[in-house]
Amino acid sequence: MSFKKSERQNRKAVTITRQVADSIITWAKTHHPNEAILVLQGKSTREQISVDGVVIPPFSESGPFYSGFGIHDLPYTIPHVGTAHSHPGGSNNPSLEDLNYFTGFVSIIISHPYEDNTIAAYDRNGNSLELKIVNS
Ligand SMILES: [Zn+2]
Repeated sequence: MSFKKSERQNRKAVTITRQVADSIITWAKTHHPNEAILVLQGKSTREQISVDGVVIPPFSESGPFYSGFGIHDLPYTIPHVGTAHSHPGGSNNPSLEDLNYFTGFVSIIISHPYEDNTIAAYDRNGNSLELKIVNS
């Protein structure tokens, strides 16, 4: 369907550096079997979102089922393009809570066993975004 195609083309591509991918993987593994969350730094343009840094959120509390992040408590002085969090069990699809607590432009989700190919990116509507890991 041509409508769907043009809709897909309007979605931004997401680029994350190798270092950011490794940080997300390590952070997720460290907290397993609990969820872990990180704040993503970088920039967003019309065509793409590039992530080049991560910050540990000041009020994060992790638990077995929900990372319970007070992302709405995030000081506005921390510039961010979105968040990354882990799904210790199941898929890397966004949950309803993930979409309700969406902040920024992109939500990155990594599922167990926390490898490059279990990292996925979504926009605030839960649409899957193209994700590229780049060496920089
Ligand atoms: Zn989630």
